[in-house]
Amino acid sequence: MRHRLPLALTAAALAIIMPVTSVAANPRDDKSKVDDRVKELQQEFEGLDKDLARVIAERDDAQERLPDAEKASKQADDALSEAIQKDDAMAARLTSAENAQTDLKSSIKDGAEEIEKHKTSAARIGRQAYQNSGITSDLAMLLQMAEGTSADGGIGRVDSAVRSQQRTIDDLSAQRSVNKNNEERLSGVTDEISDLKDEAAEAVLAKEAAQTDARKKADSLNDIISAKDDAEKTISDNKSKTEKQLQEEKDEQDRLAKKVRDWEKEQEKKGKFVYGDGVLANPAKGYPITSPFGYRIHPITGAKKLHSGTDFGVPCGTPIRAAGDGIVVTSGWTGGYGNRVVISHGKIKGNSIASTYNHNTKLRVHDGQKVKKGQVISVSGTTGASTGCHLHFEIMKNGGYVNPMPYIS
Ligand SMILES: [Zn+2]
Repeated sequence: MRHRLPLALTAAALAIIMPVTSVAANPRDDKSKVDDRVKELQQEFEGLDKDLARVIAERDDAQERLPDAEKASKQADDALSEAIQKDDAMAARLTSAENAQTDLKSSIKDGAEEIEKHKTSAARIGRQAYQNSGITSDLAMLLQMAEGTSADGGIGRVDSAVRSQQRTIDDLSAQRSVNKNNEERLSGVTDEISDLKDEAAEAVLAKEAAQTDARKKADSLNDIISAKDDAEKTISDNKSKTEKQLQEEKDEQDRLAKKVRDWEKEQEKKGKFVYGDGVLANPAKGYPITSPFGYRIHPITGAKKLHSGTDFGVPCGTPIRAAGDGIVVTSGWTGGYGNRVVISHGKIKGNSIASTYNHNTKLRVHDGQKVKKGQVISVSGTTGASTGCHLHFEIMKNGGYVNPMPYIS
């Protein structure tokens, strides 16, 4: 009649309520995710310090994990409250059943005493009735009643005694049935207590598991929050330094662009300023674009930053070829761009077009040299503000940086 849970089922039920380990993120997944993001960031932002890129990746990772961790912690707290409530309720039910048991035991004891009293009383009434009537036995009484020979109102006394005795016997019988009922209830309550004790023990275990789980979830939430805070502090500590660096890069870009523009203007004045057929080729054909031209928000300064060219995933040591016929404006070391070659292609559709090749290991041309389309002008590398082998290729239109892709595809 009882519905006691088998232990295995209880454990399974607990496992469903508290999926403590199964849901926890695999730290290795997290690490490789951060590693991938570091690579991505360094491709997106050439020259971004690796440690800083890692801090940014960790900040982003923490940011991403935060909502789930908050939710998990809240759920664990709710589950704990529920488990505490259940535990309290079980304890209260147990106490109430135990009180009922005590009351029933005491009622039964009182009832038994009552029964004893009634029994004694009935027996005494019977004895007295016979003694007073002078009738010596039930049979004698019946005979006397049948013969109408009872003297001194004996039968009347017996009759009244019998009625009194009957009442006592009725009381006795009523008390017996009350006691029987109480004993049945006691047996029920005793069974119930035994079940409640099991359930209460389970409720305690569930509460303890919920406490452990809630603590764990709160800990991991706090870990994420402090990782995020730490990362944000490092990022903010590096903000002004990075802003300065980016400004220097921008100044260098502008300075180099102006130099090219001045050179072009000189040529324009001379009037003869067309090289080749005006059609440019991809200088890194067959290599993937790892970072396109365009504006992006810098993860440290939060400011818009122009990626002034297209990056190609060219391994170090790869020969780099001129995109078109032209003349070398400059070939040499610059700060952020490392070893850089700038080639003017003259006027194309009315605009002065130049191409630049950056971060080279070696340079194969010199200022003022005429080059043919496809001629090797340098060897790729990762010099200057660069964190991996690649070619940063630019197109300048009238001295301004534009998206190179429409020119070379
Ligand atoms: Zn680039």
